[in-house]
Amino acid sequence: MKTIPPGSTIGIVGGGQLGRMLGMAAAQLGYRIHVFAPASGPANDVASAFTEASYHQSHRLAAFAEACDVVTYEFENVPVGALALIADKVPVLPGLNALEIAQVRYAEKAFVQDLGGRTAPFGVANDFEELIPVLERIGVPAIIKTIRMGYDGKGQARIDAPGDARQAWHAVKRQPSIVEGFVDFSHEFSILIARGHDGASVTYKPTWNVHRGGILHRAVVPAPAAIAGQAAEAAALAERVADALDYVGVLALEFFATAEGPVFNEMAPRVHNSGHWTIEGAQTSQFENHIRAICGLPLGSSALTAAGVEMENLIGDEVERWPEILAERGAHLHLYGKDEARPGRKMGHVTRLIG
Ligand code: AMP
Repeated sequence: MKTIPPGSTIGIVGGGQLGRMLGMAAAQLGYRIHVFAPASGPANDVASAFTEASYHQSHRLAAFAEACDVVTYEFENVPVGALALIADKVPVLPGLNALEIAQVRYAEKAFVQDLGGRTAPFGVANDFEELIPVLERIGVPAIIKTIRMGYDGKGQARIDAPGDARQAWHAVKRQPSIVEGFVDFSHEFSILIARGHDGASVTYKPTWNVHRGGILHRAVVPAPAAIAGQAAEAAALAERVADALDYVGVLALEFFATAEGPVFNEMAPRVHNSGHWTIEGAQTSQFENHIRAICGLPLGSSALTAAGVEMENLIGDEVERWPEILAERGAHLHLYGKDEARPGRKMGHVTRLIG
């Protein structure tokens, strides 16, 4: 694929904060941004063009594709068919193969197992009758998760005893689901890898992810020793996954650190919340490296800019803390421009460099 030079237009499908930060990185490199999303959102503020349309309006998708030199996505629940229509006219990166696998919880686990990765034991239940034997095989405690569309702990429920099965099935709204064995982990962490057209890649330092109420609360680098000891194995797996997909862009893999080693949980074929620290904390941010990769430019260094970095999400009305964060020396405040601070909504984040 030929290089997409600065001055070209990058299309972003999805209009959230990831699109906004991708747009800011793209603007720094001289690109124009065209956002396609069903409703106006944080990415619009940094875009020179916006198509507000549903993912099912094929003539709008086609017109968007014609206006762009390359298209990426910031949201993994975009229908693959919508991106396939775009891909008929203009390169879509990362490729649709990665999106198809990452949208389906059992597919991503099976894919990673085939590449030698460890996962929790899992089984698929399309209806309640299938759930019972799967649960007998996996045992309790277990977690049931919808096969598609889950994020931030939504669409999942814990099963502590076989008698909880019916309640759990209702909690996932009787959607086709996977049942996973409960992993006994000490920490959660992620590996972010950026891979270019030529197969060259850079991997960021592993990030310790601390969740609160199923939502990422803090991301910490360097990660504690329990993670650091498993990072090489996890990073090698991330590289195998990226190579197997012939992936272009930033790919995030989430893991549990366990006594047996890293256990893969899920992947996201996009920039990731656990990598927001890279804006100030790495030589080249995940957003810039994603743009560089999809445009065929050389990747930048992922080395740290400080001894340590910590990112804290501002969720719901925590965003009201902005004046005190601004008054804090060295704190880097990022606000996403969302008007309504609903509970659980990611409104911004703050990054602090340590040492
Ligand atoms: P997920 O949507 O798969 O990222 O799950 C959300 C959160 O639930 C994870 O960050 C973990 O804290 C927890 N979790 C998910 N799957 C498991 C599992 N198999 N065992 C233990 N905890 C889990």
